[in-house]
Amino acid sequence: MRAMVLERPRAPLAAREMPAPRPAAHEVLVRVGACAVCRTDLHVVDGDLPDPALPLVPGHEIVGVVTEVGADVQTRVVGERVGIPWLAGTCGACVHCRAGRENLCERARFTGYTHDGGYAEFTVADSAYVFPIPEAYDDVTAAPLLCAGLIGFRAYRAGGPGRRIGLYGFGAAAHLLAQVARHDGRDVYAFTRPGDETGQVFARSVGAVWAGSSEEAPPEPLDVAIIFAPVGALVPKALRAVIAGGTVVCAGIHMSPIPSFPYEILWGERVVRSVANLTREDAHRFLEIAPQIPVRPSTEVMPLEEANEALDRLRSGRVEGALVLVP
Ligand SMILES: [Zn+2]
Ligand SMILES: [Zn+2]
Repeated sequence: MRAMVLERPRAPLAAREMPAPRPAAHEVLVRVGACAVCRTDLHVVDGDLPDPALPLVPGHEIVGVVTEVGADVQTRVVGERVGIPWLAGTCGACVHCRAGRENLCERARFTGYTHDGGYAEFTVADSAYVFPIPEAYDDVTAAPLLCAGLIGFRAYRAGGPGRRIGLYGFGAAAHLLAQVARHDGRDVYAFTRPGDETGQVFARSVGAVWAGSSEEAPPEPLDVAIIFAPVGALVPKALRAVIAGGTVVCAGIHMSPIPSFPYEILWGERVVRSVANLTREDAHRFLEIAPQIPVRPSTEVMPLEEANEALDRLRSGRVEGALVLVP
């Protein structure tokens, strides 16, 4: 099969021919139809996340068709279309797994990080961690739901209620969440890089009531702010933008250092928290509501061999919605 392979961090991915993987007894083999490009892929490739399983096929927003099932697989069948997300497996035994917080599992495995992912023609996945894809979506449109959607939705729920919700970094996750928030009758305030007028126009086109630079204060105080950009300096900015009792959610897996800030901007029961990974319940719930809203991902298709160019574009912020690789 063809695959794009990370051989060492901070180097471009290499186009390789390799044997397709074989499914273990509990796994399914999936022919990849589409794999969206996530900012976390960039953190893996750029060496921000430690110890990737090199050589590595990145990619964890995978949609494809099951072509083979392992001997012990009962729940999935050949020909079924499934999605494969970032959470690839958990131990079921650690303190977090036993508390129903499998997203925090101490021995969690991750697609496209601790083992090969979807920048390839085929991949294998644990059958207990793949999800049927709603028929309303084709492969390309469904792919960004698998991480931008799922983890975005977890961040959205973590932020709690309140009418005014600010989204810092208006990329793949924010453009999906803006649609969920609007459906819930909430007002979305979109913050982009300073000068990114294209991004601000895009944010308004998917329902933001206001879009501006992350250097600006919103016209109204926010109830909730979710930070998708990996920029620690946004944390005090977002804290200044939320009302007393408001919550700031850091939704990314990596962030630059957070500058110190005066206690008074946290005072008033403001909360700063992170969101880590996803649970299977997040996946089931989001994949159920997404077609009902309906959430419509904005996608741009690129051939698998252009994975490096896709990562470059994400690095420099030249993306509206989500980039999706097709083998
Ligand atoms: Zn565990
Ligand atoms: Zn992701």
